[in-house]
Amino acid sequence: MTNRFDGKVVLITGAGSGLGQASALQVAKEGAKLSLVDLNSSSLEETKAKVLEAIPSAEVLLITANVTDEKAVESFVNQTVETFEKIDAFFNNAGIEGKQSLTEEYGTEEFQKVVDVNLNGVFFGLKHVLKVMHKQGFGSIVNAASVGGIRGIGSQSGYAASKHGVVGLTRNSGIEYGQYGISIKAIAPGAIMTPMVEGSLKQIDPENWEEAGKQFVETNPMKRFGKPEEVGYLVAFLLSDQANFINATVIPIDGGQSYKY
Ligand code: NAD
Repeated sequence: MTNRFDGKVVLITGAGSGLGQASALQVAKEGAKLSLVDLNSSSLEETKAKVLEAIPSAEVLLITANVTDEKAVESFVNQTVETFEKIDAFFNNAGIEGKQSLTEEYGTEEFQKVVDVNLNGVFFGLKHVLKVMHKQGFGSIVNAASVGGIRGIGSQSGYAASKHGVVGLTRNSGIEYGQYGISIKAIAPGAIMTPMVEGSLKQIDPENWEEAGKQFVETNPMKRFGKPEEVGYLVAFLLSDQANFINATVIPIDGGQSYKY
């Protein structure tokens, strides 16, 4: 096992589930001290238990917070620095999918809610973590975009707008902060089997969502869903010093889906 994160502090939002949890586990296995944030405190405890089961000596700070609340974001960033003295790496990951419908039927409140979490939340995270990293003179950030942030998928006005926005924020801040030694990138996962994707399949077919899932992946070149741990490996690499020169760009992890026409 490599120890790319020995002595490093990694902050992760949306760490109670799916991609955030898998990434927390991966960087902890490689030596990271963790500051884990989620809306849901019991799912945070679950992540901590999984981390401690794998690495009993891991240092884990849990913070229950809503990324749509800028004061709360500022506070979890400050708590992380007060506890661990720095932030080496940040997975700006918390997000929601929202309801699926045609644009003309897409609820305005729903649109605002999805944009609030997925775009405003990512902006607040960037703003407050970058203050710390700028002063430190080092750091790496991975923002969670989506295939829905680089291609049109349909039925997802709020998700598409917010994830395209995350790509824009990534390019903009990557260009601003490269000169300070800080690299900022986004990932664009395709369908990775997490509670979010399960919820999405249940919107398509509540009774037979597993069957809907099989049909869904038929169009993927690899004919399967991605696994959260596969995203964990990618995020760990992108957050590590090895990926410092990868900046202001978006890395798909989707079995080739986004290149298929
Ligand atoms: P998930 O639902 O399994 O986990 C998301 C976590 O974020 C949950 O623990 C939830 O409580 C937390 N969260 C939600 N709103 C929050 C808020 N306002 N403040 C703090 N925490 C909040 O989802 P996932 O599949 O792990 O997705 C993680 C990220 O990856 C999201 O941004 C999602 O859009 C993106 N993504 C996922 C997929 C996929 O296929 N799973 C594909 C593309 C992009």
